[in-house]
Amino acid sequence: MMSIDIVDIVSEYSDLVDKGNDRYACLCPFHEEVTPSFVVNKNKQSFFCFGCETGGNVDTFLIKMLQKISTTLYRNSLDSVETPKGYGGRESWINKSMKS
Ligand SMILES: [Zn+2]
Repeated sequence: MMSIDIVDIVSEYSDLVDKGNDRYACLCPFHEEVTPSFVVNKNKQSFFCFGCETGGNVDTFLIKMLQKISTTLYRNSLDSVETPKGYGGRESWINKSMKS
C-alpha cells in the first residue's frame, strides 16, 4: 500500500527546514508570518501552527489548503465586481460576502 508522507505534501506549499528528530518547520501557509511557527512531525504525520493554532494530519492539511485556495479565488473574483449599494461600503460588502 502506498502511503502519503505529510512532509512531502507540506513541502509542495512551503519550504520545510529539517529541525531533526523527524521535525520540520516552515512559514505557516494559513496565516501571514515572518518567523516559522508551523511545525510538521514526520513521525506522527501531523502538523501544528503555534501562530494560528491550526493543526491536524495530512487530510486536515489538504482540506485547509483547498479552503484557502477557494477563498483566495473567491476573494479575487470579488475584485472584478462593483460594490452593490446598501452594504455600507466596499470593505463591509466584501466581509459580508466572504462570510456567506
Ligand atoms: Zn498559522
